[in-house]
Amino acid sequence: MTKKVINCPNGHGKMLIKKSTKRMKFRGVEINFQVEHYMCPVCSLEAGSIDQTSATQRAISDAYRKGVNLLTGKEIREGRKRLNLTQDALAKRMSVGIASIKRWEGGLIQSKAMDKALRMAFKGKVVGDSYTGNRTFSIPRIKLTLRQFETNLGKRILKKRDKMLFAAKYLWYADMLSFRDLGKSMTGSTYAALPYGPQLNNYRELIDEIKNADETNSEPLTSGEKRLIASIAMSFPEEQMVYDASHREIIWNKKTTGAIIPYSDSTELTEL
Ligand SMILES: [Zn+2]
Repeated sequence: MTKKVINCPNGHGKMLIKKSTKRMKFRGVEINFQVEHYMCPVCSLEAGSIDQTSATQRAISDAYRKGVNLLTGKEIREGRKRLNLTQDALAKRMSVGIASIKRWEGGLIQSKAMDKALRMAFKGKVVGDSYTGNRTFSIPRIKLTLRQFETNLGKRILKKRDKMLFAAKYLWYADMLSFRDLGKSMTGSTYAALPYGPQLNNYRELIDEIKNADETNSEPLTSGEKRLIASIAMSFPEEQMVYDASHREIIWNKKTTGAIIPYSDSTELTEL
């Protein structure tokens, strides 16, 4: 940071740099953080803090992150350097974009799921890739998840002859919310942005396998996963509703046809 010389407007010459602690409520959390000002040693006049926007925002963000037990920007940078990783190498290890690493180190607040992924990466674990949401793809688990939806909705959504036009939307929300809130997807499925909404990647190859799968071969759903399914079913009791909601999602809308929707996009869901 270059510290420029500022002279007191009252003619007392060079102002000095002074640190002070500020207190505020940020996202519902009381935080203390340090800011730097210029102050005239003669008349005590204060001038705007140094590098105000970035330094103050970083200080607020780090104080908040410390308060809610998320890694601070400094801790992320230090954790990365301890492992001799470049920002790009850490991004690859976590299957996120390098821009995310830069932003988190620079003051953007990471989600809980991403914080967990950062801590795992610092422990040397490769975080599962962003296309499967940290879980091994399982067709029986897709069937099990859809059956759980059917229990909650009180009707069949996996139908004999359909292309899972609606079922895939329920599944997509279940996987994305599970990744966002629980740190891993439910089924390990990869989704593509297709004209009729988010859909299982290569769904044509999968549909028959899903219909014929034995869901009892799947790892049972956890209570957290069941809760998510219940809340999605409650939000979208009709198939048209889940279809329409998925079409309002920017993370689908903005993709070119056929592009993969990475799980890292789950933080930008707007409908749930
Ligand atoms: Zn002065």
